[in-house]
Amino acid sequence: MKINQVYLGLGSNMGDRQANLALAREGIARELGPVVALSGIYETAAWGLTSQDDFLNQVLAVDTPLGATEVLAKVLAIEQSMGRVRKVKWGARIIDIDILYYNHELITLEGLTVPHPFLQERRFVLVPLAEIAPAFVHPKLHQTNAELLANCPDTSEVLLKG
Ligand code: ATP
Ligand code: CA
Ligand code: CA
Repeated sequence: MKINQVYLGLGSNMGDRQANLALAREGIARELGPVVALSGIYETAAWGLTSQDDFLNQVLAVDTPLGATEVLAKVLAIEQSMGRVRKVKWGARIIDIDILYYNHELITLEGLTVPHPFLQERRFVLVPLAEIAPAFVHPKLHQTNAELLANCPDTSEVLLKG
């Protein structure tokens, strides 16, 4: 069985944010496979729509036998099971789970783009990603996560919470 390495970006800015991340990690381990690396938890001001509560963000590396579209279906199901309701784009959410990387593959499907198209623009993704996988090379931009972070124009604060 082929094992794929997937990097997931988690975010929460509603309710008990730490508990939401913990519940998401459990669901991910159950539905996708073992979490083999996890970053610290960082607090960041909301990005995009800024008039909302701060986020907690975390990045996980997971080993999974599932294909990329199956991973997407599972993470969307975990979001739904946790009560996420999509209202406003980039609005407040109990949990958000994005696929950052799937192996070193480039995937462009309706409803799924991997690597995540905005990861290089977001410090709240790059700081935890570079913490756990500094030398991983972005398959399209051909820079490591550490380089992407060093070159990221986003200046927002990303504070380690625990
Ligand atoms: P952003 O993608 O800018 O971070 P968002 O996470 O708030 O925004 P969502 O409402 O959570 O956006 O997701 C909208 C859709 O994005 C999902 O239903 C999914 O089909 C699609 N999508 C495309 N690429 C990805 C990816 N790499 N990871 C997760 N979802 C993706
Ligand atoms: Ca997102
Ligand atoms: Ca998302």
